[in-house]
This record gives sequence, structure tokens and C-alpha cells, in this order.
Amino acid sequence: MSVLEKMTSEDAIALEDKHGAHNYHPLPVVLSKGEGVYVWDVEGKRYYDFLSAYSAVNQGHCHPKIVGAMMEQAQTLTLTSRAFYNDVLGGYEKYATETFGFDKLLPMNTGAEAVETALKICRKWAYEKKGIHENEAEIVVCENNFHGRTTTIISFSNDPVARKNFGPYTNGFIKIEYDNLQALEKVLKSNTNIAGFLVEPIQGEAGVYVPTEGYLKSAKELCEKYNVLFIADEVQTGIARTGKMLAVDHENVKPDILILGKALSGGAYPVSAVLADDAIMGVIKPGNHGSTFGGNPIAAKVAIAALEVVKNENLAENANVLGELFRSELNKFIPTSNLVNAVRGKGLLNAILINDIEESSTAWDICMALKENGLLAKPTHGNIIRFAPPLVMTEKQLLECVSIITETIQQFEK
Ligand SMILES: *Cc1c(COP(=O)(O)O)cnc(C)c1O
Repeated sequence: MSVLEKMTSEDAIALEDKHGAHNYHPLPVVLSKGEGVYVWDVEGKRYYDFLSAYSAVNQGHCHPKIVGAMMEQAQTLTLTSRAFYNDVLGGYEKYATETFGFDKLLPMNTGAEAVETALKICRKWAYEKKGIHENEAEIVVCENNFHGRTTTIISFSNDPVARKNFGPYTNGFIKIEYDNLQALEKVLKSNTNIAGFLVEPIQGEAGVYVPTEGYLKSAKELCEKYNVLFIADEVQTGIARTGKMLAVDHENVKPDILILGKALSGGAYPVSAVLADDAIMGVIKPGNHGSTFGGNPIAAKVAIAALEVVKNENLAENANVLGELFRSELNKFIPTSNLVNAVRGKGLLNAILINDIEESSTAWDICMALKENGLLAKPTHGNIIRFAPPLVMTEKQLLECVSIITETIQQFEK
């Protein structure tokens, strides 16, 4: 069949299966339209989106302000490269640095690129400012981290599926337990070559692990004590997802280096960024780092619009209120259920733990049934299902979704 003809879900899945690399295991649903909290499949069935493209679509699908900004800029100037200036990037850098309270921004495209950028800045700072001998800097990371898919980043992953047979790996990383301040202090105290501590304020991909209250604040204080950069990967937790603009805002922590991506563009375009103050970002000089598409005019306009939507529509506050409601409703349901052990999360980044072994198919089967009932979600690790709808949801819609979720799970109760 011609790719221009209207296709069924089966056709689309078969095409991808035949011609695309098999690097994902999608739920068998083929989407062709999105608006706000909803997506539609090619057969016209409507779903609530409870993944939001891994929290890239916090502002809702196809937000008219974001799409409008993108279309207008696309008809004017799309790409100059950084060999020349463009008349949009500076305004975006000003707006974003003022929004997040940093001196400077370095624009990239994807989350993994921004993480790589932060690691490079951290190492260069270590040699030029902290005085670590060249090639001896170490960066502390956490077990069960997820920071992206490049060779360096998977070098410090402990997910065997993400790592195996992709070696040799990049050196210079030390893994410690997440949410363990003793482990952090021990490594900082015993090793004078440590340049930075890279951490997710909530571990999203690992299954929405929320650290103990005060962990981030104390970890930042330890980093200050040992002159180590505190690097927050807010690619998933940032941009209002957890009920504040940044997840570190819950503990009034200002990272030395902040990494943003995903919802920085509202899901319209790949936009990521690294932010830091001059004392750190100043180590980057012409030629040290770059990206052909990083900071392009479309990305800059899209990011401004995406951040304006978050502020104008009070999405952080909405995520906070609806998140509380979601967890309290599920906590009412859990005592009646043999299948759900717990709900956890912050704002609208939540997960439920299914009472079954990690290798079981129960979480997947529940997601398949949720799909039948009009709600899309995906297991993270084995028996954990993440629930992260767009932040433009209303209370009424959220309560309807809670009913879909609890009634679907009841179908599986023994
Ligand atoms: C998604 C994610 C990344 C990687 O972003 P990509 O755009 O997929 O490269 C990095 N860190 C965290 C915490 C993420 O959730």
C-alpha cells in the first residue's frame, strides 16, 4: 500500500516492524492526533495520555501558543547555525536564565546531549578552577540512574539491557546508592578528585523513586563543603511536572549546573539546555563545544512559548493540587486491592507498584487493559506503572481517570 493512503493500526505497526530498528517495545496503539490531555489513534478512538511522552508534553498536546510560535518562526528563519548570530536566541537565553536564576544558558537539542554537556563543563571546571590534575576528575552518580543513551552516559548506568555489548565504556564515574547521604559524604571525604555529583531529584525511569525529604538540600550542602558541583538532571522532573517549576525548588536548592529538556519545548521540538553561573559556564570558550541545531531560532521561540504557557496557566500549582488528589484517591483504593501495593510520587509524576514479581507480565497486561478503557500508560521497570498526564488536566478529568484506573485494576483482582 502507498504510505499516503489512510492506514490501520495493524498496517502502521507492520511497517515499523519491517523497516524500523527494534529499539523500543511500544504498546500496540498507533496515534495520529493529539490535543491537550487527549490523543487519538488512527481508528479514531480517544485516550487520556498518562505518559505525556515521558513528561515532554507537560503543556498538553499541540498547545496552540507553542505551535503558533513554531509555525511563525518556521516561516521566517529556521536555522543559521551558530557560525552567525540570530535575532531570537539572545532573547530566549535572557528569558530562560531569568526564569531559572542563572547567569548563562548553553542550548542543545536532546536530554542526553545536555547531560553530556554538563559532564564536559564539570570536568573542565575541575581542571581549570578546582585544580584537579588533568584526566583524573571523577563524577559521582547514583545507582539506577537514567540520564540518556550516549556511550558515556550508559557507561555509568547499571541497567544491563542499556549497557551490555556497548563497551568499552567511559571512565571517571563513581556510583553510589541513591538517597544515601552517608554514602555521598564517604566518597566526597575519601576522594579529592571528585568534580561533581550528578543526580535526578526524583528517579523517573527507575520507577519514580522520591528521595527522603531533605536529601537534596543536604546533598547540596555536602557538595559545597567539598567544593564539588551539584548537577541536577531535571530533564524529566523539571518544567512544573512535580508541582514546582523545578523539583529542586521543593527543597530550595539551587544546583550549580541545571539540565533541562523534554517539556522545555512542550514536546513540539527537541530543545534542551544547560544552565550555570559565570564562575562555572565561563570555562567554556569558542570551539570547546557546540551543536549545529542547538539554539536555532525555532527552538528558541518554541522554548519561550513553552515556558510562558507553564507560567500563564499556573501549571506547577495545578500539578501540585491534582497530584495530591491523585495520590489520596489511590490511597483510598489501595486497602481494597490485592494488586496495588503503593502509590508514590510528587505533583503529577506518580507511579503505582503492582503486587507481583518484577518479571511478571501483570503491569503490562494492566496497561493493555487501560488502553482498551481509554487511558495510555506504560510500565517503567517490571511491576511499576508510571502515571504522568499533561499538566493542563482538570480536576474532573483527573477523577474520571482515577475511575478508569481503579476499575481496570479491579478486573485483574483475584
Ligand atoms: C529522558 C531523560 C534524559 C534523556 O533525554 P533524551 O531527550 O531522551 O536524550 C535524560 N535524563 C533524564 C532524567 C530523562 O528522563
